[in-house]
Amino acid sequence: MKDFNLDALTRENVKGLQPYSSARDEYVSDGTEMVFLDANENPYQNGVNRYPDPQQRTLKAILAEQKGVGVENLLLGNGSDEVLDLLYRAFCEPKVDNVITLPPTYGMYKVLSAINNVENREVLLTADFEPNVSAIAAITDAKSKILFLCSPNNPTGNSFATETMHQLLENFKGLVVVDEAYIDFSSTQSWVSQLKKYPNLIVTQTLSKAYGLAGIRLGICIASKEIISVLNKIKPPYNVNELTQQRAKERVLDINSVKQEVSNIMEEKKTLSKVLLEVEYVSKVYTSDANFILAKVDDATKRYNQLLKKGIVIRNRTTQPLCENTLRFTVGTPNENTQLINALNQMNTEL
Ligand SMILES: *Cc1c(COP(=O)(O)O)cnc(C)c1O
Repeated sequence: MKDFNLDALTRENVKGLQPYSSARDEYVSDGTEMVFLDANENPYQNGVNRYPDPQQRTLKAILAEQKGVGVENLLLGNGSDEVLDLLYRAFCEPKVDNVITLPPTYGMYKVLSAINNVENREVLLTADFEPNVSAIAAITDAKSKILFLCSPNNPTGNSFATETMHQLLENFKGLVVVDEAYIDFSSTQSWVSQLKKYPNLIVTQTLSKAYGLAGIRLGICIASKEIISVLNKIKPPYNVNELTQQRAKERVLDINSVKQEVSNIMEEKKTLSKVLLEVEYVSKVYTSDANFILAKVDDATKRYNQLLKKGIVIRNRTTQPLCENTLRFTVGTPNENTQLINALNQMNTEL
């Protein structure tokens, strides 16, 4: 295990914080019938009149077992976007520290840098969409607190080479966040299995993609218990609401349905990739380890607008570096994908 000093990375004001102690933190039910007059709630039962469990114990117990980690290695948030924001607030001193991101990638890292007033140092991926290890090393300094690795990467769809990831985890002195929003679609293994080896590794996952629960907002942070303790000091006490906890529980227990849907989506992706390549003005379809496909066309903005007119919304990625004239297609239902292909083929003959 590499030597690593979490304290040295943590913001000074966060180090001394005690987490806010809510009424429900101080008393946890052991199942005995109790009279709750501690939290100024309305006493009339309607299913959600009580505050939710601030530590989401039941949901975490299920997730911990499924992911092969301890409950103390988990922090849940209002989407992984909240988890990412907590990371900035715990470790990045505004106007002093910096983070490193690797465009073209998920746009929220840059947005969160701006919101938190933290310098965002960008190192372009290489031509084959891999992290540029030497350029990252060159731009890193003592104030580089977080390196964001999105794998599988959005919008390119590839997972980064395992050896490259090991090199970065080994050499980067700050925290390495591996954003695994698309890991359930991936043929590669989750980096959760490497947490013991790398004390600076933080993995984020979400129920928004494969689990089909984008609407309830549930993000997952998996890391050492020391890192999780720091995040627990600053998280809002009731950041995951009762309805979200309930729906998330039901869904993660029904893991076989999730797997079945993922498998259907992967089949559809295979078909869609093949047919996309046959479209006249599509010049390249990138290999995808996720539930979307990036493709290069003759004129991305023109094709995007043509599809809109036909009632189909995709993502135009042409303004992203290395992504000139590319479009990103989310894999839909078989019916939706057929509509997409029909529309794309009609556009062959339209100007
Ligand atoms: C969609 C996506 C997320 C999801 O964030 P949530 O807030 O959990 O919905 C996170 N990271 C990446 C790279 C994504 O594409």
